[in-house]
Formats: sequence, structure tokens, C-alpha cells
Amino acid sequence: MTLDSPRADFADPGLHARGLFIGGDWLPGGGIPVTNPSTAGVLAEVPDASVEDAMRAVDAAEAAAAGWRATPPRQRAEILRRWFGLMTDHAEDLARLISLENGKALPDARGEVAYAAEFFRWYAEEAVRIPGEFRHAPSGAHHILVDHDPIGIAVLITPWNFPAAMATRKIGPALAAGCTVILKPASETPLTAYAMARLGAEAGVPPGVVNVLTTTQPGPVVSAMLADPRVRKLSFTGSTGVGRTLLAEAAKTVVSCSMELGGNAPFLVFDDADLGAALDGAMIAKMRNAGEACTAANRFYVQAGIHDAFVAGLTARMAALVVGAGTDPATQVGPMITTKAVTKIDRLVSQAVARGARVTTGGAPLPGSGYFYPPTVIENVPEDAEIAHEEIFGPVAPVYRFETEEQAIRLANSTEYGLAAYVYSGDLSRALRVGKGIETGMVAINRGLMSDPAAPFGGAKQSGLGREGGVTGILEFMEPKYFAVNF
Ligand code: NAP
Repeated sequence: MTLDSPRADFADPGLHARGLFIGGDWLPGGGIPVTNPSTAGVLAEVPDASVEDAMRAVDAAEAAAAGWRATPPRQRAEILRRWFGLMTDHAEDLARLISLENGKALPDARGEVAYAAEFFRWYAEEAVRIPGEFRHAPSGAHHILVDHDPIGIAVLITPWNFPAAMATRKIGPALAAGCTVILKPASETPLTAYAMARLGAEAGVPPGVVNVLTTTQPGPVVSAMLADPRVRKLSFTGSTGVGRTLLAEAAKTVVSCSMELGGNAPFLVFDDADLGAALDGAMIAKMRNAGEACTAANRFYVQAGIHDAFVAGLTARMAALVVGAGTDPATQVGPMITTKAVTKIDRLVSQAVARGARVTTGGAPLPGSGYFYPPTVIENVPEDAEIAHEEIFGPVAPVYRFETEEQAIRLANSTEYGLAAYVYSGDLSRALRVGKGIETGMVAINRGLMSDPAAPFGGAKQSGLGREGGVTGILEFMEPKYFAVNF
């Protein structure tokens, strides 16, 4: 098989480091080593795009824009549906690739591929249901017609923690809406993005509709694209800090922004909760992706009556997890993304311990060449510890005790973030009441997992702007146009 065949050893990292993907061509280059966090070894090297390369990508997206916009929704839908099928056919290879470059355990990687592919299937179904409105003017004198146009060329920026899903959650609705895109994946995990671009081309995505570039200078490269008047959309997933910078950049040309930013999810357990169910949910909410998820439970608030039993149960479950290389079939918890991430987690835990917190399992980085931090539980964490306010992004569960419902809501809201929250209670009306009081875009009730392509994903406060997924996700890539109709 030649390298051009998508079936030639698809899980080989080198196959997906062929070049920048611009206008349907692979433009070879190197300069960005991609590391396996399980071993610290280099897997492949991908190109380092310059500002000129980024402008070429904008040219390619512009050249393809009119044709794609004019492509009937049914045809756009069929291409997305084929892309879903190809991702599903290559699910095991994609999972292995994700596991190699991100480090996540294979079961997590398989879950991500299924979740990621589902965005293409969901938006294949939404492409043919783009809404419009027809209204009677209150005066009765005329009518109001609202159409939705594709917004234009979209720049998509994704983080490393879900290399496939964060890309498909943007590409799916953008293509369904009729937009052409330039995807800039995170430097740590670009191979999955390039692998998916190959599958997209095989699915029939025309040249220039999806372009992918990697760069070591995201600031200048993205700013140059945003400054180009042909670019009308920025969809960003990443940290709140970078999100703020990009909002300021986008303001210069008044580019429409969708922002999926950081989280600091509270996980509330009331005395009347089913303890076993709460522990099951806690393990999913904390340990999916080894804690490297924006929705990861970051603060466990447990009511006094159930607190000690919860800590004991969580400690036993966390201590039993198998830590190892992501691609090892026995592994349940893979490494962190970088050595810097391990250092940050270690600092947060050490500082909490210095202020009186007690480690019940884990608590220090693991030796070896990979970037490993063990599943950790800490209790008696003082509210003023840094870990109570920072996104941990790792396998550490700090547990805090609370007494009353009001106190739980106050603690849950004591953050600038507002992405996700979890509530466990045997009383549904209490759970809903508490959920209403929590200032987040999403609340999971007696569930440890909330992500669903059919649901609107996104945050309140400094966790973001706009929603991805669901029936409204496509509107982030459309511009409403109102026609005043005189009849
Ligand atoms: P990050 O440092 O903000 O990076 C995200 C992306 O932005 C990467 O592609 C990065 O490129 C790029 N970038 C960095 N600086 C930039 C700049 N000045 N201009 C343009 N692009 C720039 O975030 P991360 O560490 O990869 O991801 C973790 C964060 O993402 C966490 O805060 C997490 O909560 C958040 N997240 C949020 C969601 C959500 O849906 N709300 C989902 C997943 C993750 P390089 O890789 O080249 O630096």
C-alpha cells in the first residue's frame, strides 16, 4: 500500500506527519516534535507553519468557500456521514494514535473516538435541518423572514486533551453550516488532526474546505488570520487565559467568537445520596482522561453525614487503579501530557498539605521516564488552598466537608469558572433546586458524565461564550439574516 492509502498502517504516527494540509495538498516540513508522554520518546515531527503558510490556508479556504456554500445540504450531510463511517472503521487505529500522542488509556481513547465521530453523524443530520423563521409583524402590516447564512471562513483552535473530539465538535457544525475551516490543533497532539483530515478527504470533503496547520507561533499565526477580513469566525477551546487574549485579538476585526474555556467543576454529594452511585459517578467525573478534562470534577463537596464514608470509598477505588503507559491494555490511568503538568499538580497538592490537608492515597509524582502522577485523594483541604480555586487537570480529588444546602451552593459558586457541576442527591427536587442555584452552563444530576453530541455544551462566567453540539451548535457558524417582507 502507498502512503496515500488511508488504510496503510493507519496507526503509524509517521504516516500523519506528512505536512501541513492546505488546499487538499500536503506541504512537507518539520520542526515540531510530537512526544509520547508515556515514555518521553519522540513519535514524529510535524511542520511548523509560518504566517505565510497560514495566509495560504486562508486563500485555500476562500477558494473553496463559494463551492462549499453552494453544495446542497443533503450532499454536505452525506460527506459528513461518510466521514463518521470512516472514523468508525478506523476507530481502533485512531484510539491507538490518540493514546500514543496524548497518553490517555486505550479505553478512554476508544471512548473519545466514538464521541468524536458522533459529532459528524449528529451534524450530518442537522445539516438538512437548518432553521429559518417566519413571523407576523406585531403591527399586522408586514412579515418577518429570518434566514441563516454560513458565517464565512472559520479558524478553529483545539487543545490537546481531546485531540479528536474537540476538532469534530467544531468541524462538524461548521461544515454542516456551509463554512470552510482552518484547524490549528495543539502542538502536543497534532497527529490525530492530520489523520482525521486524511479520512475527511477520503470521505469526499473537497480540497480547501478543511485545512490543518501546526505551528510553534500560535500567537502571530492566529492573529494574522484574524486580521484578514475574509475570516469571520473564531471557535476556540482551551484555557481561559488564552481565550481572553484571543477575544482581544478578535475584537480588532470584530470576528464572531465561540469560546470553550477552563473549568473548575464542583461535585456535590448530599447525605441522602446513594453512596455507591455517587462513588461510581465520582470515578467517572474525576478519572476520565486521568482528570485532564475541562468537565473533570475539581472540588468534591460532601455533606458531613456521608463525608467519611465517601472519602473511604473514593480512596479505595482510586488506590486500586492501574497506572501505566496509555497503550498498555492493562492501563486504567495514563500519564499527564507533559512534565510541566506533573510539576503543577505536585505543587498544588504539596501546598494544600502544607496548609493542613491529609493525603489518603497517592500524593507524589511517580518515578520513571514518562509523566506519571498517581490517583490521589486529599481531605481536610482548607478553602484558601490554591487547589480549591485552580483547575487541577490531573488525577487528584480534593474533598471538602459541608453542612447545609446553602453552604454547598455558595462553595460551588466560589470561582470565576462556570462550566460544569455534578449533584448527587436522592431527592430530585433538591438536586434540581441546587442545580438551578449553581452558576454553570451544565449540571449533571446523579450522573458522572454529561458530554453528549446532542446536548448544548458550554460554560457560563469565565468558562466561555456560546455552545457546541446540540441543535444550537450549528448556529454558532451561521449569520442570521432578516428580510423585511412587504406583504
Ligand atoms: P491552551 O494552552 O489554552 O491551548 C489551547 C490551544 O490554543 C492550543 O492549540 C494552543 O496552541 C493554542 N494557543 C496557545 N496560545 C495561543 C495564542 N496566543 N494564540 C492562539 N492560539 C494559542 O490550553 P490547553 O492547555 O491546550 O488545554 C487545556 C485547557 O483547555 C484547560 O483549561 C481546559 O479546561 C480547556 N478545555 C476546555 C474545554 C471546554 O469545552 N470548555 C474542553 C477541553 C479543554 P499550542 O498547543 O501550539 O500552544
